[in-house]
Amino acid sequence: MAITDFLCDFCRGAWDGSFPMVEGHKGSLICGQCLSMAWTEVELMGQDLAPKGTTCTMCLEEHDRRAWVSPMHDEATICHRCIKQSAGRLHKDPDWDWRKP
Ligand SMILES: [Zn+2]
Ligand SMILES: [Zn+2]
Repeated sequence: MAITDFLCDFCRGAWDGSFPMVEGHKGSLICGQCLSMAWTEVELMGQDLAPKGTTCTMCLEEHDRRAWVSPMHDEATICHRCIKQSAGRLHKDPDWDWRKP
């Protein structure tokens, strides 16, 4: 598989290996930049952007909690739990200098 086959589900940016990316279930991906936006809006600002009953792109579960919707692709959503899990993983990953905003 070519490295350009990896696309962020939230901004459709192709991964070239130069920025962090976190994998969800079934190969869904979120890049560090989208995750920063999601973290800021949901965790820090307490926003709830996704309507109830939408399915999280990352864990494929229906939202019963706060969630973030991509401003570019509104079918791509990530729930608060996945935001926290992904942020925790990236934060600890020594390969990337990613910090929670
Ligand atoms: Zn992205
Ligand atoms: Zn989720």
